[in-house]
Amino acid sequence: MANDGRFPCDLAVFADTGEEPAAVYRHLDWLRSLGTPPILIRSAGRLGDDLIRGCGPTRRFVSIPAFTLGEAGRVGRIPRQCTRTYKIDVVERAIRRDLLGLAPGRRCPPGVRVVQYFGISTDEAGRAARARKRFAEKQWTVPAYPLLDLGWTRRDCLTWLADRVPHPVPRSACVFCPFHDNAAWRDLRTVDPDGWARAVAIDEALRADGSACRRGFRQPLYLHRSCQPLAEIAFDALAPEPLDPMAGECHGMCGV
Ligand code: SF4
Repeated sequence: MANDGRFPCDLAVFADTGEEPAAVYRHLDWLRSLGTPPILIRSAGRLGDDLIRGCGPTRRFVSIPAFTLGEAGRVGRIPRQCTRTYKIDVVERAIRRDLLGLAPGRRCPPGVRVVQYFGISTDEAGRAARARKRFAEKQWTVPAYPLLDLGWTRRDCLTWLADRVPHPVPRSACVFCPFHDNAAWRDLRTVDPDGWARAVAIDEALRADGSACRRGFRQPLYLHRSCQPLAEIAFDALAPEPLDPMAGECHGMCGV
């Protein structure tokens, strides 16, 4: 839509976790081939590798919203830090350094305002409320929601894209994101064998001796809400989940 001139846009930023499905990277190449707006690719590292090996001398890691299996079979979920570190901070750093040319630690000059667009549709308006809250205390940047302004649902977006993009537009999320619903896991296994293999490897690494991401957790971690190893789940035999507009999404800021 920015390329069509529907709203002004100086720069797009792709915060790359290094873990997107192959179809997302192909789509990104296609978007970049359009020429405008320029798309910067920036990254805080490869998220899955950092989960396994950790970063820096302390082997620090950033948690994903994995499931835990506690006493008496109680399923829990650990806090998510990945969106902040691998997406929000990456985008904000790109704005400050690449768009505004600010050195680390320097303040945005008075009077400068950066508009950040969020592609949130009317069926996920709760995400907009969370983003607005996050922006409330920032002076230098304001959020905008062109799809909400148009009153578009996800289906409206898909219709609009189908007329303009020569391939199905994939969802952006890490291949091993624990927010996937069963349909997303099944699709990944069917259409992206490398992505599926990566998800299975990360699922196993969550419970492997020596993985950085095991530190501090007594209970085993899993990618799937059933707390079974991903490779052992018979997805074809699972009943469809109840319709949930947020299913399969990393709500919050993932997907910007
Ligand atoms: S897609 Fe999922 S795992 Fe990846 S950064 Fe977002 S919440 Fe974390």
